[in-house]
Amino acid sequence: MPQPSHPHKSSKYTYGPVPSRRLGFSLGIDIIPHKNCSFDCIYCQLGKTSNKTLLRKEYTPVQDVLEEVRYVLKKRQHIDYLTFSGSGEPTLHNGLGYLIKELQKITKVPIAVLTNGSLIFMPDVQKDLVNANVVLPTLCAVNQKTFSRIHRNHTNLNVTAIIDGLIRFREMYEGQIWLELMLIKGINDQPDQIKQMKLVMEKIKPDKIHLNTVVRPPSEEYAYPVTADALRRIKGVLGKRCEIIADFKMPVESPYRTEYLQNILSIIERRPVTVDDLVSITGLHANEILKYIERLLEQGKILLSEHEHKKYYQSTGRFHDRTKGPE
Ligand code: SF4
Repeated sequence: MPQPSHPHKSSKYTYGPVPSRRLGFSLGIDIIPHKNCSFDCIYCQLGKTSNKTLLRKEYTPVQDVLEEVRYVLKKRQHIDYLTFSGSGEPTLHNGLGYLIKELQKITKVPIAVLTNGSLIFMPDVQKDLVNANVVLPTLCAVNQKTFSRIHRNHTNLNVTAIIDGLIRFREMYEGQIWLELMLIKGINDQPDQIKQMKLVMEKIKPDKIHLNTVVRPPSEEYAYPVTADALRRIKGVLGKRCEIIADFKMPVESPYRTEYLQNILSIIERRPVTVDDLVSITGLHANEILKYIERLLEQGKILLSEHEHKKYYQSTGRFHDRTKGPE
């Protein structure tokens, strides 16, 4: 393997640990450049996909990633999971399997992979994921029309092949599969759609089913969340392995919360900013910033507005309740 191309100076491939609804304190490992993805989901919190691709390659140098994670682990912070996630689809990286194996040599912290699941039909991707402790794929629809409407996927992707891939992966994989169903009001929340989803999930046999909805500002305004009642109803249909992902409450004494929350709020109080502005001002990862933005939105301290197709966060005011959906 080649040597690292630069000595580690700052966080280029890692962020956090950030409080995660599903993974406790999660150290994010981001190995794909911003919005290189096989999907362009209408609910994506990161905006539009800039490079829609199925090409697997070494998007980021694996030795540099390993060096940075080693450095972060030396700080001995509390970390529940090392999580491959971030601003693109991690299974596009052809060094993912190597990275997982190498990380397992240096730490006992379990490794999770957050994936859109689109490449799971590829034998190489299955092989790369097999040593992870938890794989968290998303499945939002079981028919191609709804699937494409939600994900605006790469044209060579087929939902039947993805479902078959998930079933085959389950047969070969001994770790945990936590399957996420992202529900979008009026698009994939109808009773017959949930019934069909249940049948498919019975074949995939995930260890957990995580019900989610569009709680963060989406790429498309029309991607509305379902209500809490709808989530409960759907949970009832999908059975006992199904959980509604509750909001993770950060401990009050967490140093991250006060420091980052205050810092981000003070920037927003000065002028309306986009997530990208906050990334360049603070040097934090977009996903990390989004966690704090979510908290500030919940607290009603900031609000979201749109100008020339860009989303801005600004101080004060009423929190626009998106659960109400279109008039
Ligand atoms: S939500 Fe995930 S899978 Fe969908 S476009 Fe965004 S990064 Fe890609």
